[in-house]
Amino acid sequence: MRVHLINPSHVSFGTAVITPRWLYVLAAATPAQWGDPVLCDESLEPLDPETIQPGDVVGIGIHTGNALRGYEVGRLARERGASVVFGGIHATLFPEEAQERGGAHAVVKGDGDAVWAQVVADCAAGRAARIYEGGRVPAGEFQSARWDLLPPDRYMWASVQTVRGCPKHCSFCSVWRSDGQQPRQRTADAVVAEIVELRRRGFRFIALADDNFYPVTLTDLAQARRRADPTRLHELEALRAERFELMDRLAQLPKDMVFFTQITMEAAEDPEFLSAMRRGHIRGALVGVESVTGEGLKDIYKGFNASGEELVTQLRAFAEHGVHVLGSFIFGLPSDRPETFDATAALADRAGVAFAQFLMLQPYPGTVDFERWERDAVQHGIEVDGVPITRHWLIPQAQRPKVYSPHPVLSAEEIRLRTQAVWDHFYALPRIWARAKVTGSLKARIAFVLISKLYRQMYANTGIATDSARAARSARIARWIARPCRRLFAAPPMPDLQVPAAPVR
Ligand code: SF4
Repeated sequence: MRVHLINPSHVSFGTAVITPRWLYVLAAATPAQWGDPVLCDESLEPLDPETIQPGDVVGIGIHTGNALRGYEVGRLARERGASVVFGGIHATLFPEEAQERGGAHAVVKGDGDAVWAQVVADCAAGRAARIYEGGRVPAGEFQSARWDLLPPDRYMWASVQTVRGCPKHCSFCSVWRSDGQQPRQRTADAVVAEIVELRRRGFRFIALADDNFYPVTLTDLAQARRRADPTRLHELEALRAERFELMDRLAQLPKDMVFFTQITMEAAEDPEFLSAMRRGHIRGALVGVESVTGEGLKDIYKGFNASGEELVTQLRAFAEHGVHVLGSFIFGLPSDRPETFDATAALADRAGVAFAQFLMLQPYPGTVDFERWERDAVQHGIEVDGVPITRHWLIPQAQRPKVYSPHPVLSAEEIRLRTQAVWDHFYALPRIWARAKVTGSLKARIAFVLISKLYRQMYANTGIATDSARAARSARIARWIARPCRRLFAAPPMPDLQVPAAPVR
């Protein structure tokens, strides 16, 4: 009996930007008695069904975007006589769907780190339960990944997680509901040990795949200080101290290392934190800007973000501390108007963000927005290929309409065209070239241009294009650009690198 772990994708690029961490974490959670699991990341290449034999256990992790392909893979694995187990955010939300459509014998809800060994043992004994409650495991029980199973020369960035959970409650985001609002932070020792292993193997670019790298803000501390009972303040101070300890340890790693993370904009008000990020080689961060207007931020329960000129100042603060920003913007918020698109493009230019993504507001399962949209009678009775529109991820890829949150004055097509125009504006070659000057050398500048183009192909054209021909063409171009890009990220292995000692306090 062998254990297979499959990351489904309906499009394969041959090379991928970031390692799908869950594959390597569940590989580590697989007891040694079953041998090394067989890992398949379909964003590299499609599954070869011949690898699955009767009696094998097949674990498939899905989010809403790849659920339909995951169900195809699940049925195929079941037909070949395997025990099929689904996990991931989408299976957690819709376990019956995975059983009915994906041939699941079992579904793991929540974190798989602790429960996976039991699932495999039960499948092997032919007594798998229908549902396993993985829950939210404490940070001390997070599995470290099995990086020894990485295929060579396929990924540009490795991924290491330092914290799960986010204290905020944005209406379009499912993270705070699935991973919880209480941050679960790993120890610096566990994080650094994984990073050192990756650098030994030749990865110098590492994504800190966190929900929110800055879970305690200065405002949180100020509010806690006003309470009579100091318990909350002490908890927050301890969490903050752990962040600084981690960044101090990252600072001891080889100087060529580059980390990238996700963070809320409030970190811009905390120069001590930004300086520690810079010292710890955290050179880039995805910042959820979402909207450039105060009304837009209220629409999505993100009133803690700045807007207008204050937003420009805050985004610039990151760059001034050497942390380059990938700004994430959302269009189609109820208060958006035609002029919002140009205003956003202009602000992104002025604020000096290095990269940007422009998304359209979509009701994703697991979010407050989805629940509101699903309840709205307007959707009822609408079907495509016999599938209700409220289950749009089950519509075959070729016929699947892009489903967006309804807007009071703009049509979905108008939002789509205007969003595409903002991508075109931001990623016009002269603008990329001008932004690339932050990099220094000519080689680094050319790398910046290539990566900008790749980012746009992978995320704008394949994500927003309505016709499958355009999406397929973009995937081909992305595949073509991805290969030289990957080489830009590779570094000579450092097999003798030691884990730096913890500083004495
Ligand atoms: S969008 Fe970001 S800040 Fe908001 S809840 Fe999700 S992870 Fe937290």
